[in-house]
Amino acid sequence: MESELQEQKRMKCFICNQTDTVPGTTSVLLERGQVSLTIKGMPARICPTCGETYVDESVAANLLRQAEEMARAGTKLDMCEYRRTED
Ligand SMILES: [Zn+2]
Repeated sequence: MESELQEQKRMKCFICNQTDTVPGTTSVLLERGQVSLTIKGMPARICPTCGETYVDESVAANLLRQAEEMARAGTKLDMCEYRRTED
């Protein structure tokens, strides 16, 4: 639907307020009820100074959808790569 939100704007770290965050990837542990899912390769912005990571809202929403799909399929514990949506 709204896949035009991938603009790469500069963003200063909210935690240390010193450095612009840089694009990179991170891994996230997501727990929903009985499901525990580790997603690797999530696109994120990372602060080179303090190491804080920021995930875009569209990426987070996509992640939740992916987790719900897996929960519905009966997955309880898994590790996978983040999937970018095609739409
Ligand atoms: Zn920082």
